[in-house]
Amino acid sequence: MNDRPSSVLAETGHAGPYEPRYGLGPDELRSLYHRETQATRRQEARPGLWIAVAIYLLFSATDLLLIPDVAAYTIAARFAVGVTALLTFEVQLRRGVGTDWLDVTCAAAIIFGYVGWLCPAVLSADKETVSYYMVFGTIFMMGANLFFTFRFNLSIVTSAIILCILYAVNYFVPSTLTYKMVLGIFYISCFIFTSYVNWKLNEERYNVFLNALEAKIQHNEATERGKALLRLSRTDPLTGLENRRAIDEKLRDYWSDWQRVGTSFGAILIDVDFFKKFNDCYGHQEGDRCLILVANALSDMIKQYDGSIGRYGGEEFIVLARMEKKDQIMDLAEAICRTVEGLAITHELRRDGVSIVTASVGAAFTRKQTAAKLEKIIHEADRALYLAKASGRNCARLFDPTDPQSSDESENLAALLKIAIGQGLVSLVYQPIQDVASGKVEAMEALMRLKMLDGTLVPPSLFIPVAERTGAILELGRWAIRTVCTEMLLDDHVRVVSVNVSPIQLKTPGFAASVATILGETGVTGNRLAFEITEGLEMEMHSDILRCISDLKLLGIKIWLDDFGTGFAGLSWLRLIDFDTVKIDRSFLHDCGEPKGMAMLQDIIALVRNRGHQILVEGVETDQQLALMHEIGIDKIQGYRVGRPAPAASFQAKRALHKRPFTMLKSA
Ligand code: C2E
Ligand code: MG
Ligand code: MG
Repeated sequence: MNDRPSSVLAETGHAGPYEPRYGLGPDELRSLYHRETQATRRQEARPGLWIAVAIYLLFSATDLLLIPDVAAYTIAARFAVGVTALLTFEVQLRRGVGTDWLDVTCAAAIIFGYVGWLCPAVLSADKETVSYYMVFGTIFMMGANLFFTFRFNLSIVTSAIILCILYAVNYFVPSTLTYKMVLGIFYISCFIFTSYVNWKLNEERYNVFLNALEAKIQHNEATERGKALLRLSRTDPLTGLENRRAIDEKLRDYWSDWQRVGTSFGAILIDVDFFKKFNDCYGHQEGDRCLILVANALSDMIKQYDGSIGRYGGEEFIVLARMEKKDQIMDLAEAICRTVEGLAITHELRRDGVSIVTASVGAAFTRKQTAAKLEKIIHEADRALYLAKASGRNCARLFDPTDPQSSDESENLAALLKIAIGQGLVSLVYQPIQDVASGKVEAMEALMRLKMLDGTLVPPSLFIPVAERTGAILELGRWAIRTVCTEMLLDDHVRVVSVNVSPIQLKTPGFAASVATILGETGVTGNRLAFEITEGLEMEMHSDILRCISDLKLLGIKIWLDDFGTGFAGLSWLRLIDFDTVKIDRSFLHDCGEPKGMAMLQDIIALVRNRGHQILVEGVETDQQLALMHEIGIDKIQGYRVGRPAPAASFQAKRALHKRPFTMLKSA
């Protein structure tokens, strides 16, 4: 059925024959009815004719009884007409003749059946019996009107012919006028009555058809509506791509194919770089437009790879593709990067020197492993994505199980970090910071240490990124500040302690308040703390971060910029935030052996000094470097030459020995 009727029905929503709700005119509707009912009529015609012929032949017995003198002829006529009708019908059926022609054959069989019997019957000598026997002609009329399911016109024509024959015979067969009148009235009543019932039956059938049609339309409509709803529930409304729910289902299919028949596949996570910044700068409408452009470009390119693409979250997309080798998935991941780059959507306000929208891409490939789980591949792609971001974005990374940053090792670390504080696996060591002019230890930097359950130390370069990624840094950070206050500041071991704080902490709502609580609880004043901020992965300077920094300053806490010169954002951060001290990364000092390196260090120092910040140089290891710091007039220094990081207890012991607070302390 076409979908026109359903749509029109939906508009009008009420029933009644010949209504335009079906999207068809009365004639079209009738012809549809005839087309639709042809199959049933065809099915019913065959047994109908066979039964009719059988009964017709059985009446041979009454011929023998009532008109024995011509019975031989009437019976012969019965057989001739019956057999001819059945043969014609069967041949037509086999040749696939239309139902209307089959009906004509049946109608002709009725007429010839009556005429065929009548002709020899009227020759009987017993005219009176013939005149009674003739009345059976009305059975033929009933047959045309009620027994077969002819179209109404054909029934009327057939029964009318029978009526005419009856009248003709009634007229010629000798009998009384009364008899002729009674029979004439009987014939005409029979004709009217059977035709009327036939007409009613036809109407009834037609109404049944209309009801069935309506039910069908409603069913189709409900099915269509269901399909549309299903589509809607699986589609991302903004980009038109599959949404997370749909793509998760696909992922299950890919996964079960891999488990069952080993069809390997890759999962690729795509994250639009600095998208929040894009939204902030150009507005949400432009942000949406950007996502749509990226989505369209990616879904066009994915078509060549027999893959599936979906929107996984805000600015994150996911691609699944069946591939045989790792290299292929890496090629696809690279192609995705280039496709987004190729769109050249302007993004002027990024802070990494790139001025267009790009994407970071993390890919993972199915690999045999014990206790393989469906979520694992997404988890691995996520880790690869993290590495892509850490590698400066606009690049693709494939999950490498042997890489400690992305391996199960980091999974273990994440688990370890969760229990670290409770199990006493985490501790702080302090590295002295010397004032160059006075030669005194003016401050200490608190550095976090983590040991595994077996006592092995894990370097911060490994566990800090994991803690940042998993969010464990929030609790660890609060713990570090509290510990610094209680084990270093309360006993006046040193005037100021600097604590490393990750941008993730600064971005978290309520961080400044939690610091204020710690200060309140420990009774330490804010000016005894400095927070070191490193431009790390989260180099976008969120307004949240700026707000948090100003809250911290209100508490009296100093803000230092750590590892200056190693990231992209340092300069713009210098412009935005009034840092108390800028710590120049040790790599600049270590490159000083070369004239170029020396010039670089001097330039950086000049730049920071011009902005009025205090300067601290990290990584002072030798006497020469110390002398150089004096020469250049650096404010503060830190490094192995001054002192290595050591636990608080070692400073407490030394202080007890010297009874001199705030002097230069060298750890063993
Ligand atoms: P950072 O804040 O720049 O810390 C200085 C790092 O340089 C420390 O490494 C320190 O041991 C090392 N160092 C100090 N003097 C010298 C020297 O003369 N020569 C050399 N070669 N290295 C020196 P560490 O303890 O491994 O920390 C590495 C990084 O981990 C830190 O860099 C900091 O970014 C991060 N980190 C450490 N503790 C924390 C923490 O509590 N919270 C956060 N968010 N990050 C931390
Ligand atoms: Mg630091
Ligand atoms: Mg540093």
